[in-house]
This record gives sequence, C-alpha cells and structure tokens, in this order.
Amino acid sequence: MIVLKTKNEIEIMRRAGKVVSRTLDMVARVIEPGMTTAKLNDLIDDFIRSQGAIPAFKGYQGFPASACISVNEEVVHGIPGDRKLRDGDIVSVDVGSILDGYYGDSARTFAVGRVSQQKSRLMESTLKSLMAGIDNARKGNRLGVISAAVQQVAERDGYGVVRQLVGHGIGRQMHEDPQVPNFGSPEDGPELGTGMVIAIEPMINTGTYEIKTMPDGWTVVTADGQPSAHFEHTVAITDEGPDILTLS
Ligand code: MG
Ligand code: MG
Repeated sequence: MIVLKTKNEIEIMRRAGKVVSRTLDMVARVIEPGMTTAKLNDLIDDFIRSQGAIPAFKGYQGFPASACISVNEEVVHGIPGDRKLRDGDIVSVDVGSILDGYYGDSARTFAVGRVSQQKSRLMESTLKSLMAGIDNARKGNRLGVISAAVQQVAERDGYGVVRQLVGHGIGRQMHEDPQVPNFGSPEDGPELGTGMVIAIEPMINTGTYEIKTMPDGWTVVTADGQPSAHFEHTVAITDEGPDILTLS
C-alpha cells in the first residue's frame, strides 16, 4: 500500500532530509586518506544527533552502525570498521535520519584524494542517472518512467545497473511501498501521484550488474570485483514537479 503524505508531512520530511544532506556535506569536508571507516561512522553518528535527529540505520534489522560505508567494489551496506581509506578509493556513504517520526535517506559516493578517471566517470554517470530519474518523478508518469530513465543513462555509458537491490517509498517507515527499481519498462509500476515520497537510489557497477553478499551478512560487493557507485535522494512528487527533500 502506498501511503500518501500531506504537505505538512512533506515539510517534516524535508527537515529530516536536511539533517541527512548536512551530514553528507560534513563527510565531504572531513573524508581523507588514513581515516578509518569506523571513525567516519562516529563523526556521522555525532553529527546526526547534534541536529536533534536519530541515526535511522543504527540497529535497523540488526545493522551495527549509523552509516553504511562501502568502499570501491563494495556496492552498499558496508559495515564501518578498521579499514583505512586510501588515496584513490571511492566511498559510498549512505545515511538515514529520523526526525519527529519521519525518515530521510540519502547517499553520495566520495572520492578520497585523487581517483582514477575510470572511477570518476563512474561516479559522474551514477549521479547523472539519479538526476535523470528524479526529473521523471512527475505525477501522471508510471513509476517505470523513472526506472527506465536511470537505466538508459547508466547503460549508455556502458555500466551495469544492479537489479537485486532497489529504491523504495519512505515516510514513517524507512522502507515503504512502492519498490523503485533502477531498470525496467516505462510502462511498469504504479502511476505517480501528488503526495508520494520515494527514495531513488541507483547502484551502478563498472562491469557486470551481478552482486554477492559477503559472509558478514551485510556487505554487498560486485561479483567481478570492479568498482561500484551509489547516489540517493528522497524525492516528493508534488503538483509542481519533483521536490528533492535531501538537498543541503
Ligand atoms: Mg539510503
Ligand atoms: Mg534508501
């Protein structure tokens, strides 16, 4: 069941979303070679709480940290730990917040130091595919119009679009209906209407779209070991068009 949000609820979600975007802005300022992913997670946890919000991922289905931090071939759901970031890594940081009972969810992939042209092109294309999806988050469109737009950008650039993980509706729950795939036909899915809020989150691989889960039960990696990137925004569908709730 898709839960529609009122204008007032969307404004609360914008505040939750701003906590997330400010957190990711902070990450952009501090991330550097030599920093462990556990240290980055601690900074994120402190920052979210300093904004009066709750880190949404901590304890979610047993996840042990406040951010998912996924390096290079890790696609999503990386668990922060002793790993030290190195010059040339790309790092996906996915952050959720809860404020006044509503969720915000956003992710960005960051370059640590100087990264290869191959990695920077992957990051650019992934962000471009997200923005193409958002541009199609308009009432009257089928949800599949978003999915197809994301897929077209990524595949035109020669990348693999992860199939097994998808975006989602969001509101009083982090994961609500509908599922938001990053691939498929523009005729697929429900019709978009005012008051729907969705998290669009392309996970784009340099090579194959196939993924696997590591023995820790969380960390998803590319099947071929090549780098992956991930960008995500929480977006409301309004009469005026797409409204990104996770902007700074
Ligand atoms: Mg997320
Ligand atoms: Mg999400």
